Amino acid sequence: MTIGVWILGNQLSTTQAALVSCGTDKIPVILIESLNHVQVRPYHKQKLVLIWSAMRHFAEELREKGYKVTYEITDDFAVPLEAWIKANKITEMRVMIPADRPFMQLIKDMERQYFPSLECKINLVPNNHFLWTTEAFKSWAQGRKSLLMEYFYREGRRKFQILMAGDKPVGGEWNYDKENRQRPKGKLNTPGAKWFEPNEITQEVIKHVNSLNISTFGKLNDKSNKFYWGVNRSQALEVLDWFIHVRLAGFGPYQDAMIMGEETMWHSMISPYLNIGLLHPLEVVEAAEKAYREEQIPLNSGEGFIRQVLGWREYMYGLYHYVSEDYSQNNYFNHKQPLPEFFWTGETKMNCLHQVISQLLNTGYVHHIQRLMILSNFALITGLSPQEVESWFHSAFIDGYDWVMQTNVIGMGLFADGGILGSKPYAASANYINKMSNYCKGCSYNYKARTGDNACPFNFFYWDFLDRHREKLATQGRMSFILNNLDKMPVEELEAIRKLAGDWLFLNMDLSHAESQSRR
Ligand code: SF4
Repeated sequence: MTIGVWILGNQLSTTQAALVSCGTDKIPVILIESLNHVQVRPYHKQKLVLIWSAMRHFAEELREKGYKVTYEITDDFAVPLEAWIKANKITEMRVMIPADRPFMQLIKDMERQYFPSLECKINLVPNNHFLWTTEAFKSWAQGRKSLLMEYFYREGRRKFQILMAGDKPVGGEWNYDKENRQRPKGKLNTPGAKWFEPNEITQEVIKHVNSLNISTFGKLNDKSNKFYWGVNRSQALEVLDWFIHVRLAGFGPYQDAMIMGEETMWHSMISPYLNIGLLHPLEVVEAAEKAYREEQIPLNSGEGFIRQVLGWREYMYGLYHYVSEDYSQNNYFNHKQPLPEFFWTGETKMNCLHQVISQLLNTGYVHHIQRLMILSNFALITGLSPQEVESWFHSAFIDGYDWVMQTNVIGMGLFADGGILGSKPYAASANYINKMSNYCKGCSYNYKARTGDNACPFNFFYWDFLDRHREKLATQGRMSFILNNLDKMPVEELEAIRKLAGDWLFLNMDLSHAESQSRR
């Protein structure tokens, strides 16, 4: 019997389960760059570079360790797999279970279609790139009335003994979120991001990606949008170390702030590395805890960061595999607007969206509040189709995967699941954006106005959203205060808001006037 391991592009770790299951045997392994696979949607060019360069670096690392590595650059997966299986007389192909459901389906389809004639069986090894297995999450979730993240997070703290003092949380509280929302005042002088100059392998991949004749998102040309991400484990570890010792202390208070020219603030920027296996979540949370205990990192920073990795990230993965497969089709508010063109170009007079989408085009990354309170918030209050928005997020972000984006966008960002995940929709007017950023200072709209020529679209769409979905929102307890304010609004003002919202959609969404006015 000969065992071979197929390593997927987001499983780039020497401790990944399929490799580990072979012990010290230097078995044949295969990695495949598939051109067909990256045409499922127009991915960010820098994501293609990250994955393919990291795969090529990982293949080198495995070769140096003595593995017999086959590396294929081709159209699909089936043809090179078949050739590799035959050439190496492989009778058992091991694959670590993919994090994404569609890729699991792809493997099952191949198994049915090609493997019967190959005399080779597929052995799927449980994924070990997360702290919670999908089964452990199911056991936690089953029978619960509420699946709120906070309860899951507390269970994770106990289970992995992170930031615990006996059976109590250190500091006496589980969650210091209230101390994570400081308003930015003036320039904050945030430490610059940890980037890397592309080496020869990466430069080759950049040339390759720029030469492809396929639909993509984002930029990869001149100095301002060059590729600066790390591409191997040692660089990912450098970024982690730099975050822990340079940025973590300042992360807590300003993690929700947004400042022009200081885009990545004190954020860790490790999600692209975590999501392809270059870092493991346990080493990340342990490093943050160690820094809290040994280096006087403030608790609201240490806990705030650990909550994102041990709490939110694990919760997203667990929930994605727990909910039914049609979760992605949820559309609680029945929103159907297509994406406006500026989601692909960043060309809009709304400065907040212009800044965020421009940064995204240049790097493939913006932080969680820019994702939630600028991009998702705008999509929610204008009534964009949740499925189109989810697909766009998956396209645009360097750390985007099916398991990341479905629950984050459909559930958290757009409340399209009707509250499985969140306790209320994250809808906000310009008041929040002005409070947490300096975007409004450079904007041609007036963040204070909700009607009139210069009214900020976030204002009239916010009230229009509340008005359009009043009945559904009334069932969400946490919305009663704001709905009372809606009820107190003069009829003429509400009429003006409805008209502004309809006119804006007519001008920006390529809809007929009747469509834009009758979408209610
Ligand atoms: Fe965004 Fe409105 Fe502020 Fe302009 S005024 S930056 S559109 S929130």
